[in-house]
Amino acid sequence: MEKLLKGKIVADKINEEILSRLPALYEKGIVPTLAIVRVGENPGDIAYENGAVKKAKSLGLQTEKFICPADMETEDLIAVIRSINENKNIHGILLLQPLPDHIDGERVRNSLAWEKDLDCISDRALGNLFVGAEGFAPCTAESCLEILKFYDIAVEGKKVVVIGRSMVIGKPVALMLLSANGTVTVCHTRTKKEDLIRCCLDADILVVAAGCRNTLTAEMVRSGQTVIDVGINFDEERKMQGDADFEGISQIVDHITPVPGGVGSATTSVLMRHLVEAAEREKN
Ligand code: NAD
Repeated sequence: MEKLLKGKIVADKINEEILSRLPALYEKGIVPTLAIVRVGENPGDIAYENGAVKKAKSLGLQTEKFICPADMETEDLIAVIRSINENKNIHGILLLQPLPDHIDGERVRNSLAWEKDLDCISDRALGNLFVGAEGFAPCTAESCLEILKFYDIAVEGKKVVVIGRSMVIGKPVALMLLSANGTVTVCHTRTKKEDLIRCCLDADILVVAAGCRNTLTAEMVRSGQTVIDVGINFDEERKMQGDADFEGISQIVDHITPVPGGVGSATTSVLMRHLVEAAEREKN
């Protein structure tokens, strides 16, 4: 099997699956529609939004933008989300984050109906994930598992180390790997360096989601391992880099996701599949 676990081929397979599921929805007059909610004019948010719109269009899915002024108040933003929750023609919501500081992000997140919370940002959706109830997993975390599945890298019975414990990636991906019957250890900033190195060397699969370049380096890995690098960082020349020292460790481990071209490449397709699933639920 290839050393480089590329995300695009995984995305292509998910896209194919989406295309095969759409005719049944179209037949009932349903076009899966995604609400994209953006507050302000952050260029990063706009880039992400444009990517989502383009991907949706290429698959025959619809998007509707809700662009709110940067000085919008919490209550007004919640009112926008509630109106989307109640809109039967919209099946999913993508809320671009982080929100401006003056907004109570927790209240806004939790105003999303769990059925439309495609990226699992509300506490209700996270609770559903925890107990294994209906709902959607965070797209990036699911993308990690999709890559492992696509490349036939079994999780069951494997020692898995997750570096990072955020609600966005670390915790949910650890939970999902546990549900996939991995033996999961979570490391974080308070993990002693010697323990981090020992855990990493002992692992079969490493998922790095620390948001910090060179979190995983050559002395922390060995042959036989798979590395899923979730990190998105930029070096001095504005070149995108992951959390792993790619140059140093790609020669040593068996498999590794590149950055860019790895986890991030499959994430938007996972989001679109969630949208289709939400529309199917509405149909039924
Ligand atoms: P975060 O800053 O909220 O959390 C980082 C976590 O990593 C924390 O729990 C912290 O304890 C831990 N950590 C940081 N440095 C560490 C170190 N040296 N050793 C051990 N643990 C360490 O970040 P996040 O939102 O979880 O995102 C993580 C990374 O994933 C970021 O680079 C982000 O840009 C990237 N990301 C990628 C995608 C994608 O689609 N590929 C999507 C979202 C976020």
